[in-house]
Amino acid sequence: MEDCIFCKIANREVESTIVFEDEQAVAFKDLNPRAPYHFLIVPKAHIPTLNDMQAEQEPLLGHLFAVAVTLAVKFGFAQSGYRVVVNANRHGGQEVFHVHMHLLAGRQMSWPPG
Ligand code: 5GP
Ligand code: ZN
Repeated sequence: MEDCIFCKIANREVESTIVFEDEQAVAFKDLNPRAPYHFLIVPKAHIPTLNDMQAEQEPLLGHLFAVAVTLAVKFGFAQSGYRVVVNANRHGGQEVFHVHMHLLAGRQMSWPPG
């Protein structure tokens, strides 16, 4: 997708601080961090929202969780804790229409979310 910011980040056409990459996914620091650690984990495939995931992409969703755990261990917050969030469409607060998982850590998270 030529006008998608996360596709451009995955293709290295737009600068970001990439913290993980493999064949299926890339993770990078959020530009506007909401916690001491705030990474975005995105599939390399352009998928606009969670609603657009196909049945054969279910393993990809599982992989995004596995990447989150890998990063939690790598950055040392697996035991202290973290939160993963996927926003979908308007009420979910989605602003970038390329599926992404937020990985937040480094402070106490509140519940329920606002
Ligand atoms: P959403 O609200 O769609 O779930 O979250 C989109 C996230 O992408 C926001 O937290 C925002 O700060 C982040 N973001 C938007 N544009 C860029 C960008 O160009 N680079 C990076 N690193 N993060 C971005
Ligand atoms: Zn995209």
